[in-house]
Amino acid sequence: MSDTLDQIVIAGAGMAGLHAAEALRARGFEGRLTLVGEEPHRPYSRPPLSKEVLTGAGMDPASGDPGWLVGHRALRLREDEVIDALDLDLRLGTRAVGLDPVAREVGLIGPDGATSVPYDGLIVATGARARRPGTDLAGVHVLRTLDDAEAVRAAFDTAGHLVVVGAGFVGAEVAASARAVGMEVTLVEAETTPLTRVVDPAIGSVLTEMHRESGVDVRLGVGVTGYEGSDRVERVRLSDGSTVEASLVVVGIGVHLNTEWLRDSGVELLPDGAVRCDAYSATSVPNVYAVGDLADWPHPRYGGRIRLEHWTNASEQGEAAAHNLLAGEGRTAFTPVPYFWSDQYKRKIQLLGQGAPADRVAFVHGSPEDRKFVAFLGRGGMLTGVLGLRSTPRTMRYRHLLERPTTWDEALTAAGAGPTT
Ligand SMILES: Cc1cc2nc3c(=O)[nH]c(=O)nc-3n(C[C@H](O)[C@H](O)[C@H](O)COP(=O)(O)OP(=O)(O)OC[C@H]3O[C@@H](n4cnc5c(N)ncnc54)[C@H](O)[C@@H]3O)c2cc1C
Repeated sequence: MSDTLDQIVIAGAGMAGLHAAEALRARGFEGRLTLVGEEPHRPYSRPPLSKEVLTGAGMDPASGDPGWLVGHRALRLREDEVIDALDLDLRLGTRAVGLDPVAREVGLIGPDGATSVPYDGLIVATGARARRPGTDLAGVHVLRTLDDAEAVRAAFDTAGHLVVVGAGFVGAEVAASARAVGMEVTLVEAETTPLTRVVDPAIGSVLTEMHRESGVDVRLGVGVTGYEGSDRVERVRLSDGSTVEASLVVVGIGVHLNTEWLRDSGVELLPDGAVRCDAYSATSVPNVYAVGDLADWPHPRYGGRIRLEHWTNASEQGEAAAHNLLAGEGRTAFTPVPYFWSDQYKRKIQLLGQGAPADRVAFVHGSPEDRKFVAFLGRGGMLTGVLGLRSTPRTMRYRHLLERPTTWDEALTAAGAGPTT
């Protein structure tokens, strides 16, 4: 371990920040470890926010209180004793507002006003926030935080017709959860299939059918041109000239990365606000690393740079960066097999590697008609992704094919499907 690291600051107390903190302690870092989090909550898991929190599956059966989920295992990333044992200087309700790489200080604003904390090593893990629609009407929500999810859950109780804007994984899961509790749902997506950023349209069209079979009114290829109502939303106006009645709207149109506080710090940011990292998750400023949703780094198997908004990546990259910060000369390049899952209509979708863009799709087990399959996705003659629907063991069995370069024909042979000519 480097002997110059006495104090390490982690900005962002989400999945990536918590894993970085745990990995630093596990690797023997005994100095002051400050974990700064803007939200008032201890680190919690976001995936249940669009699933169990909305369906009430994890609600206190006695009181029916969705706030109980804060203390529930479905959300809590660690028990209090486990976090306490990390001996953190834990600053919740505190925002990182600036970085001075010369003085080696992070500027903070918290309950005690403006202050700063010195660092020898810094891990940036401030993640992302939901992009908001251009309206102040009541009844229009986004979903990124626990507080957002509790507000949407409460609104489910009184709303009749939900309009979900955006069929990315958050929007698609909100639609599925709303159907599970019996709401009428319209799902509006500007692209021609759901989840276009993560899966090929051949898969996306199967997902469209899943929504429709479950009773969702899916409107594809149309954008939203306005939200209308007197003080709260009553209807949504679409780009094809139609309107949809709405007593509640949830907007899932992507994120802004929480990196504005790094402007003018010398940490290089890309045009989308992502932090430009090297293969070790290091930024352009010495001893400053970046991890999780906001980190963009070169990956040797995906033909360039990647950035992942995936739960598993946040934990793996947090750990990898902690290792590299302490390792001095012995750093390790971060070359994970990306992994993402989504739960919709009691079906699990899992993606290993990358699902888009793809120039080849082969269903190697099962079929789209059965709503149960494993599909290989390829590009340029290589296997780039494996996607499973209701097929967990079979999907995970092919992970090793993505740990190294595998040609399309080698992959088909491994699946017993035989090479194509
Ligand atoms: C509703 C929802 C459902 C999801 N479901 C899935 C799923 O099923 N599968 C999957 O793979 N992924 C899923 N994800 C994605 C996954 O949760 C994220 O990829 C993961 O949370 C990223 O972790 P992170 O630590 O990088 O960022 P975040 O989770 O965003 O954590 C960053 C933390 O930093 C804090 N912060 C922000 N700015 C500052 C600042 N200036 N100073 C201090 N603190 C700050 C934020 O408040 C936040 O708590 C889901 C995400 C959402 C929102």
